[in-house]
Amino acid sequence: MSAVEAIAASEGGRDFIRDIVAADLATGRCTGVVTRFPPEPNGYLHIGHAKSICLNFGVAREFGGRCHLRFDDTNPTREAQEYIDAIERDVRWLGFDWGPHLYHASDHFEQLYSWAEHLIEAGHAYVDDQSPEDMRASRGTLTEPGRDSPYRERGPEENLDLFRRMRAGEYPNGARVLRARIDMASGNMNLRDPVLYRILHAAHPRTGTTWCIYPTYDFAHGQSDAIEGVTHSICTLEFEDHRPLYDWLIERLPIQQLDGSSRPLQYEFARLNLAHTVLSKRFLTRLVQDGHVAGWDDPRMPTLAGLRRRGVPSEAIREFVRRVGVARANSLVDVAIFDSAVRDVLNRAAPRRMAVLRPLKIVIENYPAGRSEELDAINHPDDAGAGKRQIPFGRELYIEREDFTENPPKNFHRLGPGREVRLRYAYFITCREVVKDAAGDIVELRCTYDPATHGGNAPDGRKVRGTIHWVSAAHAAAAEIRLYNPLFSRPDPGADGDPSADLNPASLEILQGAMVEPGVASDNSDRAVQFERQGYFCRDPDSTPGRLVFNRTIGLRDTWAKTQIGGR
Ligand code: ATP
Ligand code: MG
Repeated sequence: MSAVEAIAASEGGRDFIRDIVAADLATGRCTGVVTRFPPEPNGYLHIGHAKSICLNFGVAREFGGRCHLRFDDTNPTREAQEYIDAIERDVRWLGFDWGPHLYHASDHFEQLYSWAEHLIEAGHAYVDDQSPEDMRASRGTLTEPGRDSPYRERGPEENLDLFRRMRAGEYPNGARVLRARIDMASGNMNLRDPVLYRILHAAHPRTGTTWCIYPTYDFAHGQSDAIEGVTHSICTLEFEDHRPLYDWLIERLPIQQLDGSSRPLQYEFARLNLAHTVLSKRFLTRLVQDGHVAGWDDPRMPTLAGLRRRGVPSEAIREFVRRVGVARANSLVDVAIFDSAVRDVLNRAAPRRMAVLRPLKIVIENYPAGRSEELDAINHPDDAGAGKRQIPFGRELYIEREDFTENPPKNFHRLGPGREVRLRYAYFITCREVVKDAAGDIVELRCTYDPATHGGNAPDGRKVRGTIHWVSAAHAAAAEIRLYNPLFSRPDPGADGDPSADLNPASLEILQGAMVEPGVASDNSDRAVQFERQGYFCRDPDSTPGRLVFNRTIGLRDTWAKTQIGGR
């Protein structure tokens, strides 16, 4: 194994794409590696794009090459600066850098145009005057060949003249197109004289009104790869049937001469499909436009902006992509794989804190009114270096409503009338009395504590069956907490038609009046925290100096394990 291969194997894992790249370098098919990530700026990036970004930038990094960010901006009617900015922000956030190699298909419009003329002159392309309906009708089907256009035998001179007049703006939208002259009977629909240029009288975010004809994806993509010296054009499997066209065009254009580098080759891998999630920019745009979510960065969205706002670290996304791997077989990835990557990263990084999401007040009757004390709490159970903090304790506390029940079932290990439990890091307490309002709802518990159990351990060795978290009523800060559930209630949204019909009505639950320990309120960093037994949380940008808002990034796999076994 060469040094370069060794790095590749250790950082990215091995997969068939990396094997191909290694082999191409070994055989001299190329002398360096150039990849590209080519988004169309018509929406925000989602977690599926993250797979492509990690693959393209990862391969370039591992093999000492470079990866371009290229905007596939060939359809000015759907593209916007907002999307361009968001895409750049999100790729950077994910941890990748294109350096000076930022490109746009529109940077290449002039070159693409002259190559189109080259194809016309060589008899490989013609201007078709058929209406869009006639073109569709003569395209044939998967089982029937298409029919030649009546304009297919036009000579190069007439084609050139018409194409130049298309460019000059003499014709309205849809009046004519430029098509490659390949084979209307091909078994591959992409080779049935595909459209290379269409008339579109629309201003472009970058080229303004310079152009009123725009290249199609198929004509722009491979040629942009060639212009930029891309060696490995890595894309998803739905482009497999486009590869013969990709090759057909490159073979007929005077491309190799450009800089002597070898021509690009296209390789396909399986796109990421995630259960309970729709990964289609078109559909995500609809969710935003129809108001089903608050915006592209709604924490329920599978967009990178949404995941970031939800508190998912970019490291967790890279780790998820690494665990999923790269293959050629399509599959549906279970959300649990994503969740466990997020938990693993947050578990290592997030300091532990206490917060009560649905508070129930308790009064410690034998604790003097007006007194309080500071207790030691550890910041991370697996990282002594994270140290300890002090948390205030007093006569009035909040505990989680669900940690008390009047008639405890057999396996309920928490608080009930007459029962003793441990308050984490504090004392053993016993519930003496349940106070209810006129409606019969529990409003308060009267308890006593055992001063001898300071720190949460009984000197006589007696055991309690449960440990619960708490905050001091006099010191805690109120917070709004947003809990998230999957945006879609079925694993395969849209399987019966419109995915909007499968939206989960309970995807967002807002808790007002949660109580967090005081240190959480004064910590203005945006790092993730674990609220013990409740999951990982981050501060939402809706927070203001007077208002704390937290998102739950993800719950804990096992709410009980740590506190039960930890025994403090
Ligand atoms: P969408 O279907 O969400 O609109 P797209 O393919 O039209 O996606 P592009 O902006 O063209 O969006 O995508 C840029 C790159 O990201 C393409 O190379 C595409 O193959 C890749 N990509 C898009 N979706 C996925 C996915 N789910 N998994 C892996 N790669 C993806
Ligand atoms: Mg696309």
